[in-house]
Amino acid sequence: MSRSVSEIIASLGTGIHIDGQWRDAASGDTFEVDNPATGEVIATLANGGKADADAAIDVAAAKQAEWAAVPARERSEILRRAYELLTERAEELALLMTTEMGKPLAEARGEVAYGAEFFRWFAEEAVRIPGDARLSPDGKTRFVITHEPVGPCILITPWNFPMAMVSRKIGPAIAAGCTMVYKPAELTPLTSLYVLDVLREAGLPDGVLSVVCTTDAGSVVEPWIDSGKARKLSFTGSTPVGKLLLEQCSRGVLRTSMELGGNAPFIVCEDADLDVAVDAAMAAKMRNMGEACTAANRILVHRSVLPDFSAKLTERMSALNVGDGAADGTDVGPLVAGKAVDKVVELVDDAVDRGAEVLCGGSRPSGNGYFYPPTVLSGVSAESQIMTTEIFGPVAALVPFDTDDEAIEIANATEFGLVSYVMSESLDRGLSLSERLEAGMVGLNTGLVSNPAAPFGGIKQSGLGREGGLTGIQEFLETKYLAIPVR
Ligand code: ADP
Repeated sequence: MSRSVSEIIASLGTGIHIDGQWRDAASGDTFEVDNPATGEVIATLANGGKADADAAIDVAAAKQAEWAAVPARERSEILRRAYELLTERAEELALLMTTEMGKPLAEARGEVAYGAEFFRWFAEEAVRIPGDARLSPDGKTRFVITHEPVGPCILITPWNFPMAMVSRKIGPAIAAGCTMVYKPAELTPLTSLYVLDVLREAGLPDGVLSVVCTTDAGSVVEPWIDSGKARKLSFTGSTPVGKLLLEQCSRGVLRTSMELGGNAPFIVCEDADLDVAVDAAMAAKMRNMGEACTAANRILVHRSVLPDFSAKLTERMSALNVGDGAADGTDVGPLVAGKAVDKVVELVDDAVDRGAEVLCGGSRPSGNGYFYPPTVLSGVSAESQIMTTEIFGPVAALVPFDTDDEAIEIANATEFGLVSYVMSESLDRGLSLSERLEAGMVGLNTGLVSNPAAPFGGIKQSGLGREGGLTGIQEFLETKYLAIPVR
C-alpha cells in the first residue's frame, strides 16, 4: 500500500548522517522545512555546523583508500541497484519532492526518472574507466597512464532539482571510487535524505557518503574546504557563491566543478516552424516554473514573426493551471519561497516601467503559498534588469531582432554561457548560429538539452567542467602517468 507524504517524511533520518549513523547536530540546533504551496512546516531537521562538518570529513578521509579498492563492478552494481530502487519508488519520491519544492507531480516524476538515470549511466561508466599505454616518440620510455579517484569530494547542490543535481554528482563519484561529504540545499533536504536511504539499501558502505544539512552553509562547507582532507569540490548554484567557493578552494588547490548561473537566449528565426518553436519555448521557459539555470531568459524573436509567435505563446501560457503541485491538473506550482516571488515581481515591474507590454499574467495573486502566474512580456527594453538577471520564474521576456548578427550580438551580451536555443528550419543557418553562440550547450529546434548521457555545463561565468556524458566521470578522476624506461 502506498505511504502518505507524512509517513514518508517520518521514515527519513535526522538530517545529519555520518559513517552510517543518523545524528543530531552537535549544537542541538534544528531547522524547519516547509511546503511552498501552503507555507506549512513539514519537517524539522538537525541543523549542522562546524563540529558536524569536521566529523563528516574525517570519516570521508579515513574511508577513501578502502572505498577506492572496492572493485569497479561492485561499485557499478550499487549504482545499478539504486537506479532500480528509485525507479520502483518513483511515485513516492516524486510526491516527497513536490511537497518540499513545489513542482507539479508530473515534473517531479520526470526528475526522478532523469535523476535515477545518472545512477544507471554511471553504473555503466564505472567499469569502463579508460587507461592508455604507449611508447614515447623516441622509443626509449613506456608510458602507462591510469586514472585514480581524485579523493574525498565535497558536494553542494541547490533546491531547484533536488534529486538530479545531486545524483549527477554522487553517480560519477561512486563510479570513480571517491568518498563524499554532501550539503543539500536547506529548502529541499528531504529528497536528498530519501536518495541516501536508497543508496544505503543498494549496498553503499557506511562512511562513503556523509550528509550534513544546515541553514548556515558556510559553517559546514568552509571547514570541509580548509580541512586539508578534501581533494575536490563539486558545486551547483549561483555564480556569486561559486566565485566565493573558487576563492576558498584556491587555498588548498582543490579541484573544482562549477555549474553556475545562466541567462539563456532563445532565438526564433523567421524561418522557424512556429509550432515547434512555441513547444520548445514552453519547455525551455516553463520547466520547473522557470526555476532552472537552463531556462530561456531572453526570447529573441525575428520582428516579422513576433506577432504570430507572441500570440501562440501567450495562448499557451494563459491556458496553464496554477496551483498546488500535488493536485491533479496543476501545470505550474508555487515558486520555492516568498523571496523568489518578490524577485520576480521586482523584475516584471522594472521591465514594465521601462516600456514592456504585459500580454498575460504580470501580477502577484493573493492568498497562501508562493505563487506567480505565467507571464508574457513583449517589447522588453535592453536596459531592463530582466535582460541581465536570471528570472527563475514563469516569465517570458520577448525581444525583437532584425538580423542574425543582431540576434547573436544580443544573445552573447552576457557574462553567462550555459545554454542557448535556436529555432530555424534551415540546417545551415541553425548550425551557423549555434557555432557563433557563446554557450556550453545549444538546443537546435528543442527546448530541452539535459540528458545524463550528454555533457552538461557552461562556459564564461556559467561554470567549469561538465556533468554527465562520457566526461562526467573524469571530473572525479586524477590522471597518473608511469614512466618505464625500455631496457
Ligand atoms: P540559489 O540562489 O539557487 O539558492 P545559491 O548559490 O545561494 O543558489 O545556493 C546553492 C547552494 O549553495 C545551496 O546548497 C546553498 O546552501 C549553498 N551555499 C550558499 N552559500 C554558501 C556558502 N557561503 N558556502 C557554501 N555553500 C553555500
